[in-house]
Amino acid sequence: MTDHDIIVIGGGLSGLRAAIEAHRLGADVAVISKVHPIRSHSGAAQGGINASLGSDDSWEAHAFDTVKGSDYLADQDTVEILCKEAPARVIEMENWGTNFSRKDNGRIAQRPFGGAGFPRTCYAGDRTGHNLLHTLYEQVLKRDIRIYSEWLVTRLVVENDSCTGLVAMNMADSDMEIFRTKATILATGGYGRIYQRSTNAIINRGFGISLAYMAGVPLQDMEFVQFHPTTLWGTNILITEGARGEGGYLYNKDHERFMARYAAGAMELAPRDIVARAIQSEVDEGRGFPEGYVHLDITHLGKDKINKKLPGIRQIAIDFAGIDPVNEPIPVQPGQHYSMGGVSSNKDGETPVSGLYAVGECACISVHGANRLGGNSLLDTVVFGKKAGSAAVDYIDTVEFSSEVNFVDLLENEKKIISDMMGEGGENFAEIRDELREIMQEYVGVFRNKEKLEQAVDAIRNLKKRSRDLKVNNNSDIFNFELVNAIELKGMLELGHVIALGALAREESRGAHYRTDFLERDDEKWLRHTLAYYTPDGPELDYKDVTITQFQPERREY
Ligand SMILES: Cc1cc2nc3c(=O)[nH]c(=O)nc-3n(C[C@H](O)[C@H](O)[C@H](O)COP(=O)(O)OP(=O)(O)OC[C@H]3O[C@@H](n4cnc5c(N)ncnc54)[C@H](O)[C@@H]3O)c2cc1C
Repeated sequence: MTDHDIIVIGGGLSGLRAAIEAHRLGADVAVISKVHPIRSHSGAAQGGINASLGSDDSWEAHAFDTVKGSDYLADQDTVEILCKEAPARVIEMENWGTNFSRKDNGRIAQRPFGGAGFPRTCYAGDRTGHNLLHTLYEQVLKRDIRIYSEWLVTRLVVENDSCTGLVAMNMADSDMEIFRTKATILATGGYGRIYQRSTNAIINRGFGISLAYMAGVPLQDMEFVQFHPTTLWGTNILITEGARGEGGYLYNKDHERFMARYAAGAMELAPRDIVARAIQSEVDEGRGFPEGYVHLDITHLGKDKINKKLPGIRQIAIDFAGIDPVNEPIPVQPGQHYSMGGVSSNKDGETPVSGLYAVGECACISVHGANRLGGNSLLDTVVFGKKAGSAAVDYIDTVEFSSEVNFVDLLENEKKIISDMMGEGGENFAEIRDELREIMQEYVGVFRNKEKLEQAVDAIRNLKKRSRDLKVNNNSDIFNFELVNAIELKGMLELGHVIALGALAREESRGAHYRTDFLERDDEKWLRHTLAYYTPDGPELDYKDVTITQFQPERREY
């Protein structure tokens, strides 16, 4: 058994930022991550991070855009924190060494992003996440913060509504160990890979979210799944919103800038939910290319600008589609991109279980509501990562390491669960996983209705039944990825169930949740957050109010 005051689960931006803060405040903090921290999905972020840096911009304007973008589902008190703290956090990253792109006068450059009334997105070329993540990793190394790399957390220890530790498997030798903690911070990222078409890294399976769910913490607003409008057709690698921010156009097969039909004012820079639906409608109604895509054209920006502002995008298009965007348009289609929902937590990352915090994409602090604006998620990680680190340090002063929990039995029990999964024959994780991904794509996608969602719920129940006979045929102890996948699949099925059931219950269209059988937003019935609680028979849904401070819900037009 190993003790640390605080363990942060996750080596992405939110986890590293939380660890740095806890360390600064004197805690014994460690980071545990199933991949090396700089391989976390944060490193893939392209477009940028929002902050109202300009004297002609303001945090209030940023907050308004965020709340409007969220289709009024975001909690406005937390949005205020996000937007007020944005300039300080971005400048801190700059001071720590992030290589932001500059204006001619040397100041941090900012580009326009969807749904923003102002060019507010700070960027490092189109490799912003890579730059930010390396910056924080350097800061972690500098402080000598302990990192357990390539360890998979398989269970949170929660007794009497408080979290006292976790069980993890060292993937290098499959050894299981108990970590005793006073506080645990979940920073495990999103669940994109439960969808067939996703921009997310393969590691983004949402397993961390399911750990909290299985431990009794409610998941919030899970039916709100962001589909990014422009992913590379076929592989679904992200083509950043920055491509449109820099002036790219969307064309259908008749070379029509079709966004005029859907958002005549904002055109290509309408928020993501609107642009994703527009592209899907063009394709579904026969105006897209027959293979299911539309064109994103940046050729008119010219080679110099493309090389300077969008070099990563150019390389991705050349490497993965054989297309040089300097000369040709890029074929794009919508794909799952971001998880607005997550572990229900408050402005300090506190969950209803004491000693357990959640931040970053795995959490629903509710700053993104029903639709996240581009550039707000990187911001969310550093703002709330810092806050959770600090809140956890306050908390550990009030508790001791638990001596009540029988950690020895717990470890033996966990080892047995895992060894029972090993064996010949049985169901194969990949088959169930692929079916789940197809179901989510087909029935819980950009356009939803009652019939499709009911089919999804039934099909997922069935997959859950089949998953009881799952067997891991590979009996190696060394980096057994079949085992890792099989463990995580159980969590993926739980999340799929929560998303589909929440979407079925929510009989309205709001942000990214679009019901073709309930086309309008219904504030009277549905201006509220969904909470899903784990039960062995499936999720139990409840609801809670949305916090509104300064922006009364209005019709959302662009
Ligand atoms: C391609 C792409 C581009 C993006 N571009 C932008 C952008 O330009 N601007 C923007 O604002 N947002 C962007 N986003 C969103 C943003 O990057 C993410 O929401 C954010 O970086 C998530 O950070 P995180 O720290 O919460 O999680 P992640 O960076 O995903 O890290 C999760 C960590 O948790 C660990 N982990 C998970 N489960 C376990 C477990 N069971 N045990 C141990 N460790 C575990 C992983 O190893 C990993 O270290 C983009 C997302 C994608 C996919």
